[in-house]
Amino acid sequence: MPELPEVETVCRGARPHLVGRRLRTVEFARQDLRWPIPVQAIQAMVGRTCTAISRRSKYLLLQFSGQPAPIAIVHLGMTGRFLVEPIGGRAARPDWRLHEHFRLDFGDRLVRFVDPRRFGMLDATDAAHVGEHKLLRGLGREPLEPGFDGEFLFAISRRKKANVKAMLMDGRLLVGVGNIYASEACWRARVRPRRAAGRLTRAECGELAAAVRAVLSAAIAAGGTSFRDYVGVDEDAGFFARELQVYERAGAKCRRCSGVIRQATDNGRSTYWCPGCQS
Ligand SMILES: [Zn+2]
Repeated sequence: MPELPEVETVCRGARPHLVGRRLRTVEFARQDLRWPIPVQAIQAMVGRTCTAISRRSKYLLLQFSGQPAPIAIVHLGMTGRFLVEPIGGRAARPDWRLHEHFRLDFGDRLVRFVDPRRFGMLDATDAAHVGEHKLLRGLGREPLEPGFDGEFLFAISRRKKANVKAMLMDGRLLVGVGNIYASEACWRARVRPRRAAGRLTRAECGELAAAVRAVLSAAIAAGGTSFRDYVGVDEDAGFFARELQVYERAGAKCRRCSGVIRQATDNGRSTYWCPGCQS
């Protein structure tokens, strides 16, 4: 499942290809993904120039020229791919792929949205209302932006009965820390993921905030490295180019101490930690 680093990689990869280009046509193979697609609102973006591509949590925001500026919101769901392909000269348009649900034609760039399981989404808003959009308004802080630090974690963790990992994964407080990254960040910060968040010290909160940023940044760097091997934003190489220290390593030796990695299941999701060096 694409997590924040993958979406950030897609965002950075798509930007130089699409910003400054005019949307020529939009085609839909179906009019719904996870939810119905607002076809008319998306069609109304045709003829406008893409002025910015950004990311909020795991949503890609494609902004177009106009007043107020329309914005297409894309989510990759479980299996979505936002593929940007150069189209050379007068070459015939490539065939539709299996599981390709819509395409955005930018002249010499073609965006294909491919999503076998169809948990992805395409929605429309505009720059004046994007902050109130139902999927965006309740989102927590961005871990890679100013405003996320140890003091913030310390403040939100006070009187919290939830454990550390659950707090890190609570999207209303903080976005983008998925199951893998939560365990990895806790290992890096030497904090046990199943401890009560309310008992974290200020220093531990500082370590955790730094660890969250480091883990996400490393994953983005890995994705970005693989991305350069591709023309456009394609496929999932890089998505697993992470150096995982504890995740899915139950029973293996910790790479920092001689401890043996443990695993537990909370609410159906696996948590990993090293009892030797995480307290
Ligand atoms: Zn260890």
